[in-house]
Amino acid sequence: MLPIDLTGKRALVAGVADDRGYGWAIARAMARAGASVCVGTWPPTLGIFTRSLERGKLDRSLPEGGELEFEKIYPLDAVFDTDEDVPDDVREDKRYRELSGYSIQGVADRMAADFGSPCLDVLVHSLANGPEVQNALIDTSRSGYLAALSASAYSLVSMVQRFGPLMSEGGAVVSLSYLAAERVVPGYGGGMSSAKAALEGDTRTLAFEAGRRWGIRVNTISAGPLASRAAKAIGTIDRMVEYYEANAALPASNSADDVGHAAAFLCSPLAAAVTGETLHVDMGYHAMGMVAEDQLDASDGSED
Ligand code: NAD
Repeated sequence: MLPIDLTGKRALVAGVADDRGYGWAIARAMARAGASVCVGTWPPTLGIFTRSLERGKLDRSLPEGGELEFEKIYPLDAVFDTDEDVPDDVREDKRYRELSGYSIQGVADRMAADFGSPCLDVLVHSLANGPEVQNALIDTSRSGYLAALSASAYSLVSMVQRFGPLMSEGGAVVSLSYLAAERVVPGYGGGMSSAKAALEGDTRTLAFEAGRRWGIRVNTISAGPLASRAAKAIGTIDRMVEYYEANAALPASNSADDVGHAAAFLCSPLAAAVTGETLHVDMGYHAMGMVAEDQLDASDGSED
């Protein structure tokens, strides 16, 4: 048997706040492969996440038996590179004022203090934020566009820059992208399509730079639609899932676990020669050039 074995490795999965999103499924897959898993959680969602965990409201069961455990839960706000960058209104906000060290560098420093260095083998960026996602790109303000790029794309650059020195040679970074980076997806607005395009381009450049500097790999997964908390904010997610089910190469929509498994592969030694890659995990939807329903209608007509 050729196993995906991450025994003895440590992963940080940034962007976990419930059990419905890709981050949770990736954390689960990493744990199933044997890794110790730390998570980074956005401060506004930290309270509800830790309470839900304590009250047993999240599905922590693992098919092999046992439960998904997190070695540490770090508050992380990926729009701040250093603690000094946090403006006073955020620092004093009730969801932040009890916390410290939640910038990207802050979390890197906390991990180095908790575990020494190098201490990290797998870094997962499973977060995005676009305040104007419901506005068409053409109607997006400069600040909305730059906020989407900052939270959803530059955050990966900053994380690789600041966690790279903590990573062991052979380590791997994976992020989550979406087809709107390369094709038009009406409704995915506010500069989010631009942010995903940047994320995919930066994946290639970071693969070269971080590969040469630290010997680590950088890949991204272009995932199909999932009715996560973030995707619900876009408003059309249920229709998108149905559309994929009708039109993808495999007539189904991918599960969160499908993405978790692909991430575990990409971060395992089995993918030792894979870097700078955008891997589509979307039932082959990205390969389609015509909707399947139209094709069926056409073939029905020719048989008459
Ligand atoms: P999700 O809600 O589970 O994850 C998004 C996370 O980002 C949340 O936990 C949120 O708290 C966190 N976040 C937001 N702003 C942050 C910040 N400034 N700092 C730190 N964390 C922050 O939703 P998801 O859909 O699983 O999203 C995970 C990733 O998958 C995102 O990059 C998303 O764009 C991508 N993706 C999602 C879909 C989909 O249809 N759901 C499809 C393709 C790609």
